[in-house]
Amino acid sequence: MNNKSKKNAWVKYDDEKVKEIFSFSDKYKSFISTCKTERECVKESIRLAESVGYRNLEDIIKNNETLKCGDKVYANNKDKNIALFVIGSEPIEKGLKILGAHIDSPRLDLKQNPLYEEGELALLDTHYYGGIKKYQWVTLPLALHGVVAKKDGTLIDICIGEDENDPVVGISDLLVHLAGEQMGKKADKVVEGEDLNVLVGSIPLKEAVKANILKILKEKYDFEEEDFLSAEIEIVPAGKARDYGLDRSMIMGYGHDDRVCAYTSLAAMLDIENVDKTCCTLLVDKEEVGSNGATGMHSKFFENIVAELIDRVEGYNDLKLRRCLTNSKMLSSDVSAAFDPNYPSVMEKKNSAYFGHGIVFNKYTGARGKSGCNDANAEYMAELRSIMEKHDVSFQTAELGKVDAGGGGTIAYILANYNMEVIDSGVAVQNMHSPWEIVSKVDVYETMKGYRAFLKEA
Ligand code: MN
Ligand code: MN
Repeated sequence: MNNKSKKNAWVKYDDEKVKEIFSFSDKYKSFISTCKTERECVKESIRLAESVGYRNLEDIIKNNETLKCGDKVYANNKDKNIALFVIGSEPIEKGLKILGAHIDSPRLDLKQNPLYEEGELALLDTHYYGGIKKYQWVTLPLALHGVVAKKDGTLIDICIGEDENDPVVGISDLLVHLAGEQMGKKADKVVEGEDLNVLVGSIPLKEAVKANILKILKEKYDFEEEDFLSAEIEIVPAGKARDYGLDRSMIMGYGHDDRVCAYTSLAAMLDIENVDKTCCTLLVDKEEVGSNGATGMHSKFFENIVAELIDRVEGYNDLKLRRCLTNSKMLSSDVSAAFDPNYPSVMEKKNSAYFGHGIVFNKYTGARGKSGCNDANAEYMAELRSIMEKHDVSFQTAELGKVDAGGGGTIAYILANYNMEVIDSGVAVQNMHSPWEIVSKVDVYETMKGYRAFLKEA
């Protein structure tokens, strides 16, 4: 048996249903086309949540209000990480049903002193974020997204390169005519990290090109060079997500890892009402760099916010908090490697994820003998199989590549430290961690359906 021995999910659906799948994909495409940073994802998640009745937990605490079954709240952690809850009818100590995904994606971050001039050109120096093939990030239209925090407390939003009237920026590559030496280098040295410098201008202002760029930034965004010290500006591929394939069955976009799981989790969450156990969707930052820091999964934010929630619903009690976490069940979602006919040698076909075969469950991740993995319990996997089948959700199981070909980690093991049931799940992706990643529309749809089934039944 293997994943392909089950029916391709497209075949399940008639034309009417395919239309519904495409229209859900359109909503997802517009989400990833505008939400290219963790901050943009949090802002949009709050907007969508508030539009269906979610309230800010901070306000509820400030007003000393209580929460009851059916209430919907969210907690915003520093604008980069968010937890949403629907209060269930059962006591919270019975556990939560948690959907988790990450909203940070591989990219290039501006350094704290980024701007310089050389050869009468103005450039911005970067430090890449997450695991990338550096050579993929040259000769592409790039955009700047982020914030500049000024000393007076104001926060300036930056987004340049997405509107069709905006300019784009980019990183040069050596012309092939002079690339003899470069072409002989190993792929990780072809373009080196310190050479990922973004070209941003070439008109001198009284001799200096850099001075002209600073003048433009001052006029348009009202900040000075020194304000880069307290800025977070991310360089990302410019442009919208698009249909991919002559049959439009796939989506090419930046940041499917892991916004495809974040969006589908959010969509399922915003859709549910009348839950037995309290449901939670957790969107975290910093997964691509080890989940550290205040807004990463290792942060105490989640535990603290569950404590606050218990306090609002039933009155805080430490034992209730511990029981709640231990009794919880989680789908920890992140993207999986989709089988790629161009590179079959790194895959083991029986245990690869395929486009069109639905939500992927990874019982374990890790590398070299499952090292560092969360290995989900067989009993839990059995329960999920039964839930997926009951709701006609196409699902497949997979490993990230064949044994000893490589590997990867997720946030699953961090939540499993609370002794809850956690399994890795998510959507299969081609071109993972490249500027333009690919997913299958029917997989995006089946994954959302899988999350909805989990929130109803687990
Ligand atoms: Mn990743
Ligand atoms: Mn990921």
